Amino acid sequence: MVTVDIAVVGAGPAGLAAAAAAVGRGRTVALIDAAAQPGGQFWRHPPERLGRPDGGGHHLWSRFTALRSELSAASERGALIRLPATQVWFIERGATATGRWTVHLTASAGGRRAEHPEAVKARALILCPGGYDRQLPIPGWDLPGVMGAGGVQALLKGSGTLAGRRAVVGGTGPFLLPVARHLADAGATVVAICEANAVSAWARHLPAVLRNPSKIAEGAGYATALTRHRVPYRTRTVVTGIDADTSGSAVGAVRFGHVDGTGNVLAPAGHAEVDLVALGWGFTPSLELVTAIGADTCIDVDRSLVAVVDALQRSSVRGAYVAGEATGVGGALLALDEGELAGIAAAGAALAEPSQVRRLQRAIRRRRAFATAIHRAHPVPPSWQRWLDADTIVCRCEEVGLPVLTRARADLGADDARSLKLTTRAGMGWCQGRICGYAVADLAAADEDGPSADDLRAFAKRPLCAPVSLAELAREADG
Ligand SMILES: Cc1cc2nc3c(=O)[nH]c(=O)nc-3n(C[C@H](O)[C@H](O)[C@H](O)COP(=O)(O)OP(=O)(O)OC[C@H]3O[C@@H](n4cnc5c(N)ncnc54)[C@H](O)[C@@H]3O)c2cc1C
Repeated sequence: MVTVDIAVVGAGPAGLAAAAAAVGRGRTVALIDAAAQPGGQFWRHPPERLGRPDGGGHHLWSRFTALRSELSAASERGALIRLPATQVWFIERGATATGRWTVHLTASAGGRRAEHPEAVKARALILCPGGYDRQLPIPGWDLPGVMGAGGVQALLKGSGTLAGRRAVVGGTGPFLLPVARHLADAGATVVAICEANAVSAWARHLPAVLRNPSKIAEGAGYATALTRHRVPYRTRTVVTGIDADTSGSAVGAVRFGHVDGTGNVLAPAGHAEVDLVALGWGFTPSLELVTAIGADTCIDVDRSLVAVVDALQRSSVRGAYVAGEATGVGGALLALDEGELAGIAAAGAALAEPSQVRRLQRAIRRRRAFATAIHRAHPVPPSWQRWLDADTIVCRCEEVGLPVLTRARADLGADDARSLKLTTRAGMGWCQGRICGYAVADLAAADEDGPSADDLRAFAKRPLCAPVSLAELAREADG
C-alpha cells in the first residue's frame, strides 16, 4: 500500500497536467495508467526502449516533453510515484464521507504484478480516464479489416503499424481527417473519407470556430495534406455495407450511400475495393471509475454520458475531481487545461491563485464552445438504424443480432437499455458494452431523441473496472 496526497488515474494530457500542477504545489501524487508509457491516446508513441521518439507527427509534442521532464524531476525528489502498466479496478472510500480513497490496482496486460502496490491511499482523487471509439454497427462490420478510426490511429502512433493498404475512413467529425492523413502519409491509399454530415453545418457555429484559430490552422493543414494525397472528402455519404473478399474472411469492398440530414439513405453512391475500413462516430468517455465512486453523470450535446463537474473540476462527490474526455469529449488542449485546473484545485491552491484559475476557466469555456460546435455540426445521424439488415450482429462479444434485439423490444417489452441487455445479453460479453453499448442504448430508445442518460448508465457502470484474478479478490477479503 502506498499513501499519497492525491491519486491521479490516467496519464494522458489531462492526467499529466493534473499531476504536474499538484506536485508543483507541494503535494505528493501517485500517477496510475494502464499503458506502459505516459501520453494517453493523444501522445501515444512507440516504445521508448527503442529510442526516444522525436514526436514526428504529434501535435504539441514539446508540451508533452515538458510535462514529462517536470514529472521525472518530481519523481526523483520523491514527490511522485509513477505506476505505469497498472489498471485501477475499483475505488472505495473510508468509513466517512471525508475519509481517504483506496484505489485498487491490478497489472494491465503485459504489466508485472510484483512491480506495483496492491492499492494507493489518497486524500483526493483526480480521474482522467479518457475515452474510446464510439461505434455503430453496419452490415459486415464484424469482418476482420473493420476497425475503429481511433484504433487505426493508435496502431500507427504506437508502433507505426499500417492496418491496411487500401482504406476508407467513414463516420463523422474532424477526427476522420488526421486518421486519413496519417494512413496516407504512411503509404496507404485512402479511397475516400465518408462524412455523414454536411460541412455547411459549421456555418451556424462561426463565433465558436473563430475564437479557436489554432483549430482552424490544424484543419487547414489536414485539408492541404489530403489534397496532396488526392483523398476525396465525400460529405453526406456513409458506408452502408461491407462485403467480404473472395476468401470470405476479410474485408473486400464497401458500399456507399448518399444520406439526408437525418441519415436516411437517399441513393446508392457506388462502391470501392478496400482491405481496411476505419469507422469513427466520435468517442465515448470511460465512466466506470466515475460511476464506481457514485459521482453524478449527465448527457452531453454529442449524446455521450459524461461526468458532471463544477468550475473547479469537482465532481458531485467530495474529494473527487474529473478532467479530460470524461467530462465531455473535447480534445487534448481542453484536457490539458481541465487537468491543470483539477491539479490546482485538488492541491488546495485555487484560492491562492485566482488569476491562473480564471485564465484556465476562460480557456476551458472557449475550447468547450468549440467542442460543442463540432458535436452539433457532426451528430450521429438518428436514422443509422435503417442501415442495418436482418443479419447484422450488434453485440459482437455475445453475437446478438438485430432481430433478437428487435424481438425483445417488441415481444418482451424491453424498451430500455437495461432490459434489453438482460433479456438478450447484448453488452454482457468481454468488452462489457464498450463497443455496442451506445448502439444498443439507441436501439432501446428507438426515437429521434436518442438514448437517455439512464440507458447509457446501464452500459457505463462496471463494478469491476478491469479484469482481476480470483487470487486478487481473495487477498482483498483478508483486509
Ligand atoms: C483510440 C483513440 C485514439 C485517439 N487518437 C487521437 C489523435 O490521434 N489525435 C487527437 O487529437 N485525438 C485523439 N484521440 C482523442 C484523444 O483521446 C483526446 O483528445 C485526448 O487524448 C484526451 O486526453 P485525456 O487525458 O482525457 O484522455 P486519454 O489521452 O485517453 O488518457 C486517458 C488515460 O487513462 C488511462 N486509463 C483509463 N482507465 C484506466 C484505468 N481504469 N486504470 C488505469 N488507467 C486508466 C488510459 O490508459 C489512458 O492512458 C483519440 C482517442 C482514442 C480513443
